[in-house]
Amino acid sequence: MKTGSINVQTENIFPIIKKFLYSDHEIFLRELVSNAVDASQKLKFFSSNGEFKGDLGDLQVEVILDKKKKTITIKDNGIGMTADEIDKYINQIAFSGAEEFVKKYEGKEGAEQIIGHFGLGFYSAFMVADKVQIKTLSRHDGAQAVQWESNGDPEYTLTDIDKTDRGTEIVLHITKESKEFLEKERISGILNKYCKFLPVSILFGTKTEYIDSPEGEKDEEGKVKRVSVDVPNYINNTTPAWSKKPKDLSDEDYSSFYSELYPQTFDKPLFHIHLNVDYPFNLTGILYFPKIKENVEVQRNKINLYSNQVFITDSVEQIVPEFLTLLHGVIDSPDIPLNVSRSYLQSDSNVKKISSHITKKVADKLAGMFKKDRKDFEEKWNDLQVFVQYGMLSDDKFAEKAKGFSLVKNTEGTCFTVDEYKEKIAALQTDKDGKVVCLYTNNVEEQFSFVKNAKDRGYDVLHLDGPLMSHWIQKIETSNENITFTRVDADSLDKLIKKTEDIPSKLSKEDEEKLKPVFEENVNKEKFMVQFESMSENEAPIIITQPEFMRRMMEQQKMGGGGGAMFGAFPEMHHLVVNANHPKVSALLTKEAEDQKQTIKQLMDLALLGQGLLKGEALNNFVERNIEKIA
Ligand code: ADP
Repeated sequence: MKTGSINVQTENIFPIIKKFLYSDHEIFLRELVSNAVDASQKLKFFSSNGEFKGDLGDLQVEVILDKKKKTITIKDNGIGMTADEIDKYINQIAFSGAEEFVKKYEGKEGAEQIIGHFGLGFYSAFMVADKVQIKTLSRHDGAQAVQWESNGDPEYTLTDIDKTDRGTEIVLHITKESKEFLEKERISGILNKYCKFLPVSILFGTKTEYIDSPEGEKDEEGKVKRVSVDVPNYINNTTPAWSKKPKDLSDEDYSSFYSELYPQTFDKPLFHIHLNVDYPFNLTGILYFPKIKENVEVQRNKINLYSNQVFITDSVEQIVPEFLTLLHGVIDSPDIPLNVSRSYLQSDSNVKKISSHITKKVADKLAGMFKKDRKDFEEKWNDLQVFVQYGMLSDDKFAEKAKGFSLVKNTEGTCFTVDEYKEKIAALQTDKDGKVVCLYTNNVEEQFSFVKNAKDRGYDVLHLDGPLMSHWIQKIETSNENITFTRVDADSLDKLIKKTEDIPSKLSKEDEEKLKPVFEENVNKEKFMVQFESMSENEAPIIITQPEFMRRMMEQQKMGGGGGAMFGAFPEMHHLVVNANHPKVSALLTKEAEDQKQTIKQLMDLALLGQGLLKGEALNNFVERNIEKIA
């Protein structure tokens, strides 16, 4: 037996490790199982290049829980280690990594977050164990099996042992404080989280399955009895879809892999992108486009990041642009540095390249789909819209590419790109300043009279709806000088698409001043601003509008983004626009006061009713008044 001291300068490093890793103790298992997987893969490699001539056998890693002995054992039949190798890899090198980490981050804020990304490796065992044994037999012919043991102080012992099967067993003697890890469910949970797609089979105990009785036993109804059997519990899929070549996968494979990733989600994704890059960095993965719901937050951050099939994290915000966090799926890259702080990650040049590569791939995929089968793309548009708009708003390069496939739909349900649409409506809907005016509604039902009015004039009306729409519109307007969007009910049509100079008014200033107070008496002045406008006779006598800028402000404020913030809480305000040229309005001038009042009341209530704004007592009064009028 040999005793020695692990190569450390800080005597009390173990208590520090324990304290540090407090919030993330569970990663010890990821580290040890990954080491075992590495050892198995190395052996496979040595076998393939002829360095190892023995029988590989079934390479697998076994996790064994012994609640009575209070141990967890991680066992592999990989390359194993000789005494010299233990000395080199465990006593000298491995620890220096851990020590360096502790020195660097001790007492620093946010260390817990970094730790999860920092491969503390073998020594993370001491987070949960007060004694660790390594029993190992090297792959080399005639090697002597050895056992390394340490209690977590820097002292260790190294002894020859009898071990006849090749490979390594790491035995952890779990501390009292960590007894949660002696629960089968806890270990299952950890293995499922980190090891579900490791490339070597991971075995953890047995599980019960129900099969037809092998003896053909029948139940009372004469059916073959179902019996329970215990079968080995392999917890991982060693060849997840992303590790395969796209040409070897069917649509069905992609969709079943989606279910494997998100067993709780029943929605099927719209389509996927298989990423496969090997220069200038390594990256594989599959990204899925989910159907995006109104509430985007619940769907966010579902991309899992792996490094060589080891799960690292499900928060990839620093690696992909924010709008891509709406996608689901897996990214696997050994080139993403995992052992550094998040702020560093953002400035890492590999990460930047990865991020712009993914963005480009996503844009190319969408462009390709649009080109290949426009009809199908248009059918998916409702589900894609939020994603594409989000991308356009947050990433200029993406916005540039998305111009070609970002769509608007009119009330007839026809889709156009912005350029196509501009061309379609330019002849009729260009105003006197040369701006093409896109009229839109977000609710055909509620804005029916405005939509109808516009269509009666031969104008086209878009149906634009969605949580990001007003931001997106703003973006289109800023990047296209001669296009402007306005909701159909933002003003009278003549004002919205102003083709000539003002139409002369039939009412004089004095007439307006006489009538205005009578109008004002009959509405809530806080909510409606009465004004006169000279419109064409064909327009309604009164219309209720909400100026475009005011509404956008409010919408953007609701979304929480910029816009209205400077106005504080913005009151809901409408314009009550009286058409000075309507015959019913000019007729008011010759009426008796009472009659005038009644007519105005009726005209206004009808306008409010048309907009769904006549409510409560006012609506009740209106109904009662009109019933009385019926002979
Ligand atoms: P890392 O895995 O990052 O190199 P670790 O501290 O996890 O650091 O392990 C240190 C070294 O110990 C490994 O590089 C490897 O050479 C050796 N080692 C650890 N576990 C095993 C194992 N199960 N089988 C063979 N060698 C191992």
